[in-house]
Amino acid sequence: MVADCNTIRLSATDRGIRAAVSFLRKGGLVAFPTETVYGLGADARSERAVAAIYRAKGRPAHNPVIVHVASAAEAAALIDLPDAGRKAAAAFWPGPLTLVAPVRGDSGIAPICRAGAETLAVRVPAHPLARRLLAAFAGPIAAPSANRSGQVSPTHADHVMEELLGRIDGVIDGGACDVGLESTILGFDADGSPRLLRPGGVSLEALEAALGPVGAAAIVEDEAPNAPGQLSSHYAPGAAVRLDAAAPELGEAWLGFGPDPARGSAISLNLSPSGDLEEAAATLFAALRQLDEWLDRRGSIAVASIPEHGLGRAINDRLRRAAAPRG
Ligand code: AMP
Ligand code: MG
Repeated sequence: MVADCNTIRLSATDRGIRAAVSFLRKGGLVAFPTETVYGLGADARSERAVAAIYRAKGRPAHNPVIVHVASAAEAAALIDLPDAGRKAAAAFWPGPLTLVAPVRGDSGIAPICRAGAETLAVRVPAHPLARRLLAAFAGPIAAPSANRSGQVSPTHADHVMEELLGRIDGVIDGGACDVGLESTILGFDADGSPRLLRPGGVSLEALEAALGPVGAAAIVEDEAPNAPGQLSSHYAPGAAVRLDAAAPELGEAWLGFGPDPARGSAISLNLSPSGDLEEAAATLFAALRQLDEWLDRRGSIAVASIPEHGLGRAINDRLRRAAAPRG
């Protein structure tokens, strides 16, 4: 019973990995660290196991999940990649890039992973523990972020425990995630040209340096169908989020970026005092969680402007979703 199990914190050792594999083989759910955020893993070939991910997260059935595999060769057995996709795989895998392409008829992946789409999202993660888990399991692992649907993604095992305790079998504790933001999602048009579906851990600049021009199209990571053009609330703390703030207003918490003179708010954190976007990405979700906790999930968090380049695009994407009107 997913909603009522004893969630075990597994060590980042061979023993922990073996325990995780035995849960996965039984159709259970195990969270594990990746370089992006913690994923909530299940056997991607089992409809029943992946259905349990949706239940544990409260994830809407129309939101597909990413399937993780150990190598580009394994990915090629699941999806038909156009030339640009093979190039992207060679340039960025293992790493924080997800490729979305038509699923192969013989993939063996449970259709529930696609939530009705003809395409499947696949990633080869770089985190050593994710790689050890994939090697030991010797099969594809479906894994969305290991948080309750709509909440801020987890970058520490403690975050997973806070949200999913009693709903999953275990979490492998591998410390903090390096990148701290979800993967970049890249899709392809009918003619094979690449299209950015979600900004993430691989910057648009890096993608374009490898592939040439990349088209833009936002996917709506929504909890319910929204009016066209509306950003859906996602990655949302309990407190309201106010973007591009010059300073906090009375009673607001402050999330700074770059040199940050004392802002007069008792509750404040800085994503990167030196203005480094990679550091800011790595600390973003933990900082939002910490401020939210200090605010008791009420009130408002004012956030400094973040430059819209490199990882700043993905940071701003997540902040805009955190600030979007709540459904
Ligand atoms: P998460 O793993 O929680 O970061 O969420 C994965 C995201 O990947 C979801 O928001 C989906 O919208 C996106 N995704 C997964 N599969 C597909 C697909 N077949 N086509 C388009 N987007 C996808
Ligand atoms: Mg997610």
